[in-house]
Amino acid sequence: MEKKIKILYILSIAAILAFLVMQVYWLYGRYEYSISEYENISCEKISKAIVEYNNERAKHSAVKKIARTQSSYQMNTDIDSVGIRRRTVSITTKEIDGRKILGISEKRDLTPEEMKTLQDLILDSLDMVDEKVATVDASTAPSDGIAWNAMRNFDNEIQSPFTTEGIDSILRMNNLNAEITLILQDSVTWEPITIRHSSVISPRFKVITPYSELERKAVVIECEIPRSEILRNMGWTLALAFILSVFLIICLLWQIKTIVKLTRLDKMRNSFITTMIHELKRPISTLKMCVSGIDNDKLMEDDRLRHELTAETRIALDNLSAYFSKLRDITFNNVEQIPLNVTAFNLSNMVDGILKSVAIPSTKRVTFENDIAGDMEISADPSHLTNIITNLIENALKYSGEDVVVRINSESTPEGVKINVADNGNGISAADRSRIFNRFYRGKASATDIPGMGLGLSYVKLLVDAHGGEISVESSEGIGSVFTIKLPQ
Ligand code: ADP
Repeated sequence: MEKKIKILYILSIAAILAFLVMQVYWLYGRYEYSISEYENISCEKISKAIVEYNNERAKHSAVKKIARTQSSYQMNTDIDSVGIRRRTVSITTKEIDGRKILGISEKRDLTPEEMKTLQDLILDSLDMVDEKVATVDASTAPSDGIAWNAMRNFDNEIQSPFTTEGIDSILRMNNLNAEITLILQDSVTWEPITIRHSSVISPRFKVITPYSELERKAVVIECEIPRSEILRNMGWTLALAFILSVFLIICLLWQIKTIVKLTRLDKMRNSFITTMIHELKRPISTLKMCVSGIDNDKLMEDDRLRHELTAETRIALDNLSAYFSKLRDITFNNVEQIPLNVTAFNLSNMVDGILKSVAIPSTKRVTFENDIAGDMEISADPSHLTNIITNLIENALKYSGEDVVVRINSESTPEGVKINVADNGNGISAADRSRIFNRFYRGKASATDIPGMGLGLSYVKLLVDAHGGEISVESSEGIGSVFTIKLPQ
């Protein structure tokens, strides 16, 4: 059974650990997923913001365009000698100095009326036009549409250059805080590139978007992914996982505890039966012996022997009845139900009587020292106090080596009387000391062959409580123990 419980215990711990690892793994997956979701949403926001900004720039440059530049786009596709389709784009930009044409100051912007006039004049003023042609190989562009768009972006950049402030204000309006850098790439890229987060502790991601592809100009937008927001989004999942884990762990531990408790109860039942048989054996065999003596006419004729037999019978019956009252008192464990018959008596004489009747194990050399003053009179229930002291002495003999010294002394205090039962036995560990007065608690002794049910000291405490007194213990392992009883007088 013990082995099975151990295996169950190990398996349960392993199951708990495996479950926790699975939970952590699952939560990690959820966390990663939430980060990716956040990244996707942010990337979408960024691409929308860039489109919005480009549209704004295009709108802004429309007015200027008339006054300053006119562009035309052209795309040529050839099949080269190895049969590969080559795409070339060329942009012709005509820079027009509108102010020059209208003969006005260079610093002033044109009014709408002036622009209208300018539109009419442009075609006649070709000598005022500065023409630039840019031709770029756009074979790597994924589609013609993208190549056309690149030309528009090129033109847009000339009219209204891309600025970090411009895109930043749009991103902020969309609740995105980002680090923005404009870079010049080594080669032409046509589409945005997203560099996903690599760390889960401080996750960040980067989007590199070309804004003037033909000039290899791109903007790098780097965002921090706020962990607190991710965790907040996972709030319910986290709470549920936590509650479930705690619930499962409690159930498993409870299960183990119940099994351990049941095993202990089973052990206790066996120990109880063994001790009961042990305790009953002695008085019953004495009684058996006495009854056979009574049956012997010759023995009965001897007055001295007859008296001895009657006395033995009485002692055996007293022991039996004391044992049953002990069982009854412990079973009810109720101080009020213990009848007290308080009388005044001589303590030293009582202890002498106890020391004479205590059964000394044949394997031990025992020395009793009764240091109680001969005239020490106290008030208590003599039969209960006898039980108390007998139990303490029996324990002193049980939990000790071969040479045992048991010393009993007492002193009068303003609160009452103090009785000390000291031994030079095994001693009690600090952890056990606080629990030995509990019912069925057995200290280290339970691991040895020393018989017992863990009821003796709880019974002693019950009887001391019934007197309104106190019991305490001082002990050093390997040196001995002193049990002190304080009884009010
Ligand atoms: P039991 O003797 O049946 O185990 P008790 O209630 O009398 O039950 O004692 C409880 C525990 O206290 C014992 O198991 C033992 O470990 C410890 N104990 C009691 N008296 C002594 C003592 N004099 N010296 C060392 N240990 C003791």
